[in-house]
Amino acid sequence: MALNVNENTHPVPEEVADDILDQIARSLRDINRYPDREFTELREAFAGYLGGGLVRDQIWAANGSNEVLQHLLMAFAGPGRTAMGFAPTYSMYPLLTRATGARWIDGVREAGYGLSPESAAAQVADADPDVVFLCAPNNPTGTPLPLDVVEAVADAAHGIVIVDEAYVEFAPRESPSAITLLEGRERLVVSRTMSKAFAFAGARVGYLAADPAVIDALRLVRLPYHLGALTQAAALAALRHAPTMLGMVDEIVAQRDRISATLEALGYVAHPSWANFVLFGGVDDPTATWRALYDRGVLIRDIGIPHHLRVTAGTEAETTAFLEALASIDSQS
Ligand SMILES: *Cc1c(COP(=O)(O)O)cnc(C)c1O
Repeated sequence: MALNVNENTHPVPEEVADDILDQIARSLRDINRYPDREFTELREAFAGYLGGGLVRDQIWAANGSNEVLQHLLMAFAGPGRTAMGFAPTYSMYPLLTRATGARWIDGVREAGYGLSPESAAAQVADADPDVVFLCAPNNPTGTPLPLDVVEAVADAAHGIVIVDEAYVEFAPRESPSAITLLEGRERLVVSRTMSKAFAFAGARVGYLAADPAVIDALRLVRLPYHLGALTQAAALAALRHAPTMLGMVDEIVAQRDRISATLEALGYVAHPSWANFVLFGGVDDPTATWRALYDRGVLIRDIGIPHHLRVTAGTEAETTAFLEALASIDSQS
């Protein structure tokens, strides 16, 4: 079983799949025509889903949030410019940055992978990057990011500040999103994806909310008609069923917390996670443990942090299989 790339391992519910299929079928009748290049209906649907008084002029979307981030970097990074994040963080940020000809700067986190407003703001003021990435909660560590860090970084930065909320639906319900900070901060961007909580990784749909001027800048770098009609149709239908699509989130959060508790009981160190995965330390030889789990049919991720591995929270049965396989291996340091 694949518990290595933080997918939602629950399939799309049957009744939602039927509705998505209907919408795609209708869209197929006009497939000889180019799609709505402004994906107006979809932007309206995302604005509605995000709430907070957002309107469609503040929304952008693309084929996965990786493409959304690429659009941002094409518009605001490039040769002679810099982008910064706080390591360890999402491995795509430096790759996407360098592909535009810009330079990547690694900031540092505190022990335990947290980030304080003072430290983050000081590092940003010092490096003075054109783009800052804040992954909230952070991948691959799962670490939550308090909003005062976003506020401090937004104050310290002269350029674009991107809060990547790919896993935000797995955070406690009462914790506020960086969406609440958008008002009055025209260089702040909050990016989201349907890949994780929405169980839609294969459809490739990511989106963001920002000031309309940022959205206008993205129109300059995207390819014409970048978002296909079938993708727009599928995303629209799925969004109409948001509560059902998100119905598995609580179950995944329960499995995540069970993984953390069991890892601790087995003598590992589970890092606090607000995402759908757990980073754990205290692994004597990560390569050997990764291999032993693989031989038992469980695929997790060695993300290159010494003595650590990362596992995605799957269904109850998948989680049980992972925990039992791990318990059968003697691998604590
Ligand atoms: C999975 C992930 C994404 C989403 O990628 P998509 O291109 O939308 O599938 C974005 N950011 C982070 C930190 C992720 O882990």
